[in-house]
Amino acid sequence: MKSKLYKAKCSQCGKTFRRRNRSELLSALRKHLWSAHRAWMITRIKAGKHAAVADNPSIQDLIQALERGSARAAHVVVSRFTKSRYRQVKEVMDAISPLLPLKARIAWEAVEAGHDIYGKIKRG
Ligand SMILES: [Zn+2]
Repeated sequence: MKSKLYKAKCSQCGKTFRRRNRSELLSALRKHLWSAHRAWMITRIKAGKHAAVADNPSIQDLIQALERGSARAAHVVVSRFTKSRYRQVKEVMDAISPLLPLKARIAWEAVEAGHDIYGKIKRG
């Protein structure tokens, strides 16, 4: 009896890989991508990094806006977070907001209230 083989196709050249388990298959595919399509892999990784930076402002961006007392700037940062990222950020903010300067705290409360009322976040 032949055991089941896992199959994957290279998205760049269409070469098919067959291995007995998923992790072997993925490592074979990864190895092939790096040896046969190295330039493409590098381009893809760079593009991914740029996209991540553009789409996910850091909590530091948010805190900087809050420390300027700018609820408007903070709201712009918050509106770029995904829903799950916003939940993480909110947890951190709940923990650290008592430590922030009063104007930053007030700005955060304004942003939070605006966010909760109008639900400006579109992406999930
Ligand atoms: Zn290939």
